[in-house]
Amino acid sequence: MVIILGISHKEKYKFVSIRWKLVSTYLLLVITSLLIINVFISRLILNIYIEQRKSNVLIRANIVSNDIKNFITLSSAKEAIVYVNPIAEKYSKEIRGRIIVVDKEGIVKGDSNKEYLGETFRHTEIRNALKGQTSTNIYNFKEYGHVLYAAVPAIVHNRIVGATLVSVSINDIYKDLSHINQNLFFISTTCIALIAIISFIFLDFSFKPLERFTKAINSMAKGDFKQKVHINTNDEFKNMADAFNAMIMKLDQVDKQRNEFVANVSHELRTPISSIKLLSESLLHQDEDNIYIYKEFMEDISAEADRLNNIINELLALVDLDKEKLHINYKITYMNFLLEKIVNRLKPLAERKNIKLTLESDEKIQIKVDPEKIQQAIINIIENAIKYTQEAGKVQVRLYSQGKWCIIEVKDNGIGIPESSLKQIFDRFYRVDKARSRKTGGTGLGLSISDQIVMLHQGIIEVESKIGEGSSFYIKIPNDIKL
Ligand code: ADP
Repeated sequence: MVIILGISHKEKYKFVSIRWKLVSTYLLLVITSLLIINVFISRLILNIYIEQRKSNVLIRANIVSNDIKNFITLSSAKEAIVYVNPIAEKYSKEIRGRIIVVDKEGIVKGDSNKEYLGETFRHTEIRNALKGQTSTNIYNFKEYGHVLYAAVPAIVHNRIVGATLVSVSINDIYKDLSHINQNLFFISTTCIALIAIISFIFLDFSFKPLERFTKAINSMAKGDFKQKVHINTNDEFKNMADAFNAMIMKLDQVDKQRNEFVANVSHELRTPISSIKLLSESLLHQDEDNIYIYKEFMEDISAEADRLNNIINELLALVDLDKEKLHINYKITYMNFLLEKIVNRLKPLAERKNIKLTLESDEKIQIKVDPEKIQQAIINIIENAIKYTQEAGKVQVRLYSQGKWCIIEVKDNGIGIPESSLKQIFDRFYRVDKARSRKTGGTGLGLSISDQIVMLHQGIIEVESKIGEGSSFYIKIPNDIKL
């Protein structure tokens, strides 16, 4: 069911590249803007042309009105027509339009088309002109197309005696405009095509780095942590590549550490198991009545089993520490009492080797720690000091504060650590002398557990040592842990 859903989901949403999405968005924006600009330009040009034509026609209409005003008022209507009409015809030829002249009652005294002579003509523009207003309008007739009407009053001694109406075709303006619109359309289409091509090429180039990221991530998914991303564009992709490369380097390191750790664990676990197997096989082939050899072998087997147990316990402690990173149970703790408790607990161990274990803590120090965990870290270090110090040696534990640090110093006069190993002793399974460490029951995990615990407390462990003279470990815990 899930698989079917998965397939249909994939089929439903086809892959669309970001390049295409961005190019279509750009184009949509460009087309909309060009459309608005084109309509605006076209309207503006039309208005300018029409206004120009209107003022020309009104000038003509005024000239005609001026020429005929004295004839309109003639007492005989026929006489008036005889004088007025030729003037109307003359001007009509000049402006290639029609001119109608009416007297104040609206009776036509001149018509360049001779259609309405003697009739009453009550057109809106004429009526406005007879009221003293200059009036213009544009009509769109089916047969003639766009026609501009302009009417002006004829005035004699401040009296309106008639009006002149001029009508001219303005189809030429619309023709010119359609020509301009065609040009605008051509320019816009060319612009859109160019923008589409340029933006696609640009985006294709800009998004190329993404392919490198995808390739590297795919290799990473297959477990290859070597594939780095190289980008030199000096932009966000470069920052991303730097972050990616840092991440992949860290992952590679973690992967290596993990492999090393698994190899070490297997090796460490295999050694006691092989010993147990070897010892038990030898026992099987022993003389039945040699009880001493049996006992000796059984003791060795028991010691190896203890070792195995130690390794497993310490590994579990490490895993717990990794898991519990965020679960530290801080308590305000008197470090003096805690150290007293630890030293008393370890005294019998030191006495077995005739080692003098002492504690010196002059000031009372109270800090926030997880007492269980910090106790484990300190025990590991004191136990090491006892372990790696010869019989009748000295181990001194000192507690003091220095600046922001609470310091627990563990000093011994034991075998010391070579300088070349100082950096590695905190690594998991690292032991300076494997044979000696095995003899003393060391797993190579103690210091790394201590280091991890102290790090969780935002502290550090420092070490000074000289071969043959002894070692000093300094456990430094801040006295103002930030939670
Ligand atoms: P181990 O269980 O082997 O002691 P640790 O992690 O506790 O493992 O210590 C790592 C190694 O550091 C030890 O094997 C030992 O060689 C060295 N070491 C630690 N503490 C001391 C010390 N006080 N004196 C000398 N060597 C030490």
